[in-house]
Amino acid sequence: LDALKSTDLDVYAAIEAEETRQRDKLLLIASENFASPAVLAAQGSLMTNKYAEGYPGKRYYGGCEHVDTVEALAIQRAKELFGADHVNVQPHSGSSANMAAYLAVLKPGDTILGMDLAHGGHLTHGSKVSFSGMIFKAFAYGVDRQTETIDYDAVQKLADECRPRMLVVGASAYARILDFPRFQQIAKSVGAYLMVDIAHIAGLIAAGLHPSPVPFADFVTTTTHKTLRGPRAGIVMCKAEHAKAVDKIIFPGLQGGPLMHVIAAKAVAFKEALSPSFKRYQQQVIANARALAQGLVDRGYKIVSGGTDTHLFLVNLTNKGITGKEADAALDAAGIIVNKNAVPYDEKPPSVASGIRLGTPIVSTRGMREADMKEIVALIDRVLQHRHDAAVLEEVRAQAKALCNRFPIFHSY
Ligand code: PLP
Repeated sequence: LDALKSTDLDVYAAIEAEETRQRDKLLLIASENFASPAVLAAQGSLMTNKYAEGYPGKRYYGGCEHVDTVEALAIQRAKELFGADHVNVQPHSGSSANMAAYLAVLKPGDTILGMDLAHGGHLTHGSKVSFSGMIFKAFAYGVDRQTETIDYDAVQKLADECRPRMLVVGASAYARILDFPRFQQIAKSVGAYLMVDIAHIAGLIAAGLHPSPVPFADFVTTTTHKTLRGPRAGIVMCKAEHAKAVDKIIFPGLQGGPLMHVIAAKAVAFKEALSPSFKRYQQQVIANARALAQGLVDRGYKIVSGGTDTHLFLVNLTNKGITGKEADAALDAAGIIVNKNAVPYDEKPPSVASGIRLGTPIVSTRGMREADMKEIVALIDRVLQHRHDAAVLEEVRAQAKALCNRFPIFHSY
C-alpha cells in the first residue's frame, strides 16, 4: 500500500483502520467472509484497466487475450464446482445476478413467488422496495409458525393460487436444508420456472455439504463473497436452453464492461473452492455454527427453528426481554459484530427487530473451532446480561480482541 500512502493518506488511513477492525473484532455477520490473499491480489490487479464488453473470443475491444484467459478459467472452474450447464461470471453483484435471471425469461408485470423478506428471504425476491417487487407482481411464502421451517404444502397452495411464472427459492436468514426436488415439483405443477439463489450457502454446496439445486433449477444465482469466500460479486448459472438469453440480458441488456479484475478474483476463488482444504473449511463452518447455536441454547437462548444445518442461525431474544437493536448495539460496543434481524412473525419493526443473526464464515476462516465457539458464547451472554454496564462491555472488548489475536486473519486448512 506504499503508493496509496504517498498519494492519499486519508484513504490509506481508513484502509489501515479497517484492517485493524477486521483483525481485532469478533466478526459474526453471516454474509461476510475474508477473501484469501490470492483473491485480494487478483482483485487489486491491473486487470481493472481493461475494457472487455462481450464474452471470451467475442469482444467489442482489442487487446482482450489475457482477460479472455481469466474469464474462460472462471467459467470453466465454476462449471466444474457446481456442475452447471452454463455459467455467466459477469454480474457485478448478487442483486444484478438475480435481475439477470428474472429478465432472461420474464417480462415486467409477470408474477413471481419468493420467500418473504420478513421470514428470511432477500430483498430481490419480490420485496416492494426492490426492483423485483416494483417490476413484477410479487407474492411471498414463509415459514410455519410452529416449526419455523418452510411449509412446502403451503408453498404449493400459494403457487396454485397465484400461478407464478417464476418460483424463487433461497434466503438470507434461513438455517435449514432447502428441499430443491420439492420446489421443482411445485414449480412444475404450475408451469413456473425455478430460480434458486444460493448466495448464502454457495460454499456449503460447492463442498457437497448442502444438496445442490443445479440439477433441479432453471437458474441458480449466487454471490461469490459469502461462504464461497471470493470477491464481492455474483454469477448466474442456468440450463443450456437458457444460456443465450442469460448472456444477452447480462451484456448488453443490463451491464456494460465486465469488471475483469473481479472476474480474475472469481477464477482464483473457484480454484480455491475446488481444493480438498475448502471442504475441510466448510465442515468447520457448519461445526462452528452448530456449536455456537448449542452453546446459546444451553444458556437459555431461543434459536429460530431450534438449530442450524448451515453457517448461520437467528437468535430470538424475546424471552430475554432484549430487542435485536439493543443486542446489536451492546455487542458492537464489546467488539462483537452481528446484525439485528427480524424473526418470523416478528411483532417489532425491522429497524428494532426481535433477533440477531449470527454466522461463522469469518471465525472459521481464521481457524477457530468448537472450543472457541464456547468462549464466544460466554462473551455474548455476558454482554447481553450486562448490556448497560460500560465496564463489562470494555472488559469483553479486550477479551474478544485477545481471542481474535490468537488466530491469523487467514488459516490454512
Ligand atoms: N441473494 C441473497 C440470498 C443474499 O443474501 C444477498 C445479499 O445479502 C444477495 C442476493 C445480494 O447480493 P449483493 O449484496 O451482492 O447484491
